[in-house]
Amino acid sequence: MHNAATHSLTTLGVITSDYPDKFGIPRQPGLAPAARASLELFPPYNDPLAVRGLEAFSHLWLSFVFHQSPQRWTPLVRPPRLGGNQKVGVFASRSTHRPNRLGLSLVELAGIELDAGVRLHLTGCDLVSGTPVVDIKPYLPWAESQPQARAGFAPEAPALKRVVFGVAAREALSLRTDSASLHALIEQVIGQDPRPAYHADTARIYGVRLRDVDVKFRGLEADATTLEVVAIEPYRP
Ligand code: SAM
Repeated sequence: MHNAATHSLTTLGVITSDYPDKFGIPRQPGLAPAARASLELFPPYNDPLAVRGLEAFSHLWLSFVFHQSPQRWTPLVRPPRLGGNQKVGVFASRSTHRPNRLGLSLVELAGIELDAGVRLHLTGCDLVSGTPVVDIKPYLPWAESQPQARAGFAPEAPALKRVVFGVAAREALSLRTDSASLHALIEQVIGQDPRPAYHADTARIYGVRLRDVDVKFRGLEADATTLEVVAIEPYRP
């Protein structure tokens, strides 16, 4: 068949995650293992029979739709990893701006809840809340792990920056019941330095939404390898 055919996909379920917004989400799964998410399946896919045996697998592939990305695509994209000023082919990238807007993430399965339908508990995922999932498959390490593989312009995990917490941020954290896991999540997310590639302005304070809070942080003029969390505030739309 030479003509482009169209194929329809059905949403199996939707993600609820620690990431209410796209800004700040690490660029691949596993970079923030403290990130929690759940995937609630919709009828008729929420039949417990459909996930029988899945609990024996530690990791899953999720196929999903980049529903917050535009439908348009271009053959060349600018990966943030290359500083945003070099172009590569869209199919040589993991860009969210791609034909069909399909994404693929390897996530850890933390548990399966079958009380009312099916809810999968996941860690380390890189998906914004509301992401529609169109397929779930167990990960097979003997077939899919290729530690010797070449990885082009992204040969290794991005370097993490050091994250320090100011007094107000420490105080806000100490009042929370999830302080340990939120602390870890902030370190892992802010440590990726989600600021735009050009961020000479160290005075500027940026905000990343995580769970129900807005995490305010900034760069330090004296030390480009460290970021400071200046406040952790309840999110106000
Ligand atoms: N691991 C997936 C892949 O390779 O297909 C996603 C990689 S993509 C580079 C990761 C980025 O997608 C995140 O940093 C986040 O900003 C963005 N993102 C996550 N969920 C999204 C959604 N539903 N729609 C659009 N963008 C999304």
